[in-house]
Amino acid sequence: MTPRNPHRGAASLPRWIDPDELARSGRWVRGTLQWAELGRLAGAGASGRSPAVEVGVRAFREPGGAVVIEGRVTAVVTVVCQRCLGDMDLDVQAEFLVAAARSGPEAARLRDDFDTIELGCDQRLSLVRLVEDEVLLAVPMVPRHPRRGDCDAEAMHRLDALAGGAPPRDNPFEALAALRRRKG
Ligand SMILES: [Zn+2]
Repeated sequence: MTPRNPHRGAASLPRWIDPDELARSGRWVRGTLQWAELGRLAGAGASGRSPAVEVGVRAFREPGGAVVIEGRVTAVVTVVCQRCLGDMDLDVQAEFLVAAARSGPEAARLRDDFDTIELGCDQRLSLVRLVEDEVLLAVPMVPRHPRRGDCDAEAMHRLDALAGGAPPRDNPFEALAALRRRKG
């Protein structure tokens, strides 16, 4: 219960989706998920920066009769820049189309055209998991400030000093190069 939550009007976002029901209504369902609900992000080195994750979903049937979930995810996450090791904010604006397959054969058919998820025995989909996937996909494998000038200058100096001050034998590549020179 958060009576002062500015997103109160849209707080009806379900945590689980019943694809048939969502497709029947045909409407967009919008709301927010709290960062604490997206547990897998912390493991990927990302933390929430925006107050919450804004999510919109709707569903429709593709010609073969399977339900396709269309969604949008908007958020800002903080990740660690791999050049200066400083914090970096990343705008996440993801759109997805995921087909909900009711069986293995249906999943195989859908996979050519859509990202596909097989429904569990209860025929529902975890919206939290879907959103987690989208945010994780939006984080680059090696995040870096877009321009070197955006990096934390002080941190870069410290890193340069560390690299410059290390004795050469601590560098395995230099050691290898020296070995090669000796042999040749
Ligand atoms: Zn940086």
